[in-house]
Amino acid sequence: MPNDQPIGRRGLLRAGLVVGGLFAGTAAAGTAVHAQSVPSSSGTTTPDKRPATPDQAWARLREGNRRWVAGTSTHPHQDAARRAEVAQKQDPFAVVFSCIDSRVAPELVFDTGLGDLFVLRTAGQTIDPLVTGSAEYGPAELGTPLVVVLGHQRCGAVTAAAESLHDHKKLPGELSTIASSLRSSYKRSGGDVDKMIRIHTIDVVNQLKKDRLFTPRIAKGQLKVIGAYYSIDTGEVSRLA
Ligand SMILES: [Zn+2]
Repeated sequence: MPNDQPIGRRGLLRAGLVVGGLFAGTAAAGTAVHAQSVPSSSGTTTPDKRPATPDQAWARLREGNRRWVAGTSTHPHQDAARRAEVAQKQDPFAVVFSCIDSRVAPELVFDTGLGDLFVLRTAGQTIDPLVTGSAEYGPAELGTPLVVVLGHQRCGAVTAAAESLHDHKKLPGELSTIASSLRSSYKRSGGDVDKMIRIHTIDVVNQLKKDRLFTPRIAKGQLKVIGAYYSIDTGEVSRLA
């Protein structure tokens, strides 16, 4: 399975090239503006200064999540003025890696808008070299200070993987690849799907923490990789690691 194979240099480069193409027009490495002045365009109370440190970035996400939980989202950075502002460059303050689940949209969960987040989504936030390359882009090229791996309650992908592994019944197509990458967390969960979701999320955090582009930035305090859990029932994001 692709997930089980070591990260090849060529694969990483290819991933980087693809990502560079996708995000062409971003600020060049080392020139990211960390405290840009953003005209308030939506009358929101959200401060416009971009969080520059990992802790500031997490605090911003938590503020947005509190609004989401309370039903008081301000939907910042979601108008034409913001679209124009980020048309030539982007400088997101966090990478959020979550599940494809339609109920776990990061921009909504954290009440953010255009140009605020790099968002990666795969079923069960499973990871492989291509996803890793996409996660690397923000921190390595733009100095994005935070990576959040976001698991969630009642994850269908993790549930399906757990059932497949329990019953020794292979899922069709590449869904089996997803189940394979969850095998380790399944074994340590004792069959408890919610526990498996949390274990897997922390596994992905630990994997990203070892990333060779991340480790120097983590050591300097410029980057944090954290794990979190989203409650579909309450909308609340709680930190796991
Ligand atoms: Zn899910």
